[in-house]
Amino acid sequence: MVTDIAVIGGGVAGLMSAFEASRAGARVVLLDSRKEVGLPVQCGEAISENTLNLTGLKDDGEWIAHTVEGFRVRSPSGFDLYTRLRGFSIRRDLLEKELASRAASNGAVILSSATVESAELKDGRWLLSTRKGTITAGFVIIACGANQYLPVFFGFEGHQNSFRGIGIKLKRKDFGNDLIFLVKGDLKGGYGWYFPRGDGVNAGVCALTDLTAQLDWLKRTLSIRDDEIISYHGGAIPVDGLRAGLIGSSCLLVGDAGGFSNPITKGGIIGAVLSGREAGKAVASFLAGDGTALTDWEGRMRSHTAFSPLNLKRAEFLASLEDGLLNEITGLVSGREINTIPTSELMRLVLSRPDLLKRMKKGVHLVRGGREWMKWSF
Ligand SMILES: Cc1cc2nc3c(=O)[nH]c(=O)nc-3n(C[C@H](O)[C@H](O)[C@H](O)COP(=O)(O)OP(=O)(O)OC[C@H]3O[C@@H](n4cnc5c(N)ncnc54)[C@H](O)[C@@H]3O)c2cc1C
Repeated sequence: MVTDIAVIGGGVAGLMSAFEASRAGARVVLLDSRKEVGLPVQCGEAISENTLNLTGLKDDGEWIAHTVEGFRVRSPSGFDLYTRLRGFSIRRDLLEKELASRAASNGAVILSSATVESAELKDGRWLLSTRKGTITAGFVIIACGANQYLPVFFGFEGHQNSFRGIGIKLKRKDFGNDLIFLVKGDLKGGYGWYFPRGDGVNAGVCALTDLTAQLDWLKRTLSIRDDEIISYHGGAIPVDGLRAGLIGSSCLLVGDAGGFSNPITKGGIIGAVLSGREAGKAVASFLAGDGTALTDWEGRMRSHTAFSPLNLKRAEFLASLEDGLLNEITGLVSGREINTIPTSELMRLVLSRPDLLKRMKKGVHLVRGGREWMKWSF
């Protein structure tokens, strides 16, 4: 099979790329390892309204399991840091199936059970070997998620550090209004999550180590009984920020493969949607003769608030907070919308804790406009 663009990976990043590139008139073949688009789901399935808007889909699709009005970060003492931000618990399998069908209706070919096993650049074209045969492509969009080996075939060196995430689906009715993130010092920047979905709940925990022990902690904290657990899932969450290079020879990296997940929130759907969508358009323009389309894309991605290198510093700072400080910070703001708290009040807390001030000086700046940043961060 010969095509203009091959997309490797049928998660949200790859599907958005395939959709946009085929919409712009390019011939697109998407190759995915999974037997069926969208399944199995390896995700907490929570997104902000802003993420959904980026897909161009409406919030009335059957992939919306439940609508929430805010996000709560809960410290060990049980105090909450709260922000109003509309979001959704979604059926990610259905969202991906919808994106795939939209891409297919533009003419993109979606091939399941088609793992790319090797890649070779010959006479300016990529030859991709799969069990379904060889695909010859003028350009490759690599959207293989946290898979570490595939980018190496295309000349991308370097290992991405990852958190591990383990998720559970619960048989528990909960129509709660907020997505809840449970933090504690020994998670070192990881967190537990509890996302109500109406007729069920997605919960889980991400951490660098000790996932089993941390899952036990989550179950104790949320009084989860074993007979409530329907299924387990899990995976890696890259936390190094954007890779040093995103563009190679007739190929580029999007989504988790490019490090587009947020090192603080560990949320990656927004980065996958945005990077995939914009890359699909850019690669189609590049193949149509726009010589700067790819470097413009990379420049836009690197300067975007969501992918600021400052997030790595912020993540480092948050990972350094132990239980006492987490309790103090959340205790100060408990129950109030964080964006309504005067900076002077936040500064008073910081100044009363010289150790906190010292850690922040390493590179974290308090900035106004937190709401805008929140909008982009998850
Ligand atoms: C437990 C867990 C919970 C999470 N919860 C959330 C959440 O609630 N909200 C949020 O925003 N983010 C969450 N994330 C992160 C989010 O799931 C990812 O950032 C997002 O899925 C990245 O999308 P992607 O398209 O880049 O990669 P993926 O969704 O991982 O898709 C990659 C695709 O590439 C395919 N593939 C890999 N190698 C090959 C190959 N060689 N050939 C062909 N196909 C290949 C895979 O089969 C897969 O379908 C979570 C992650 C984990 C692990």
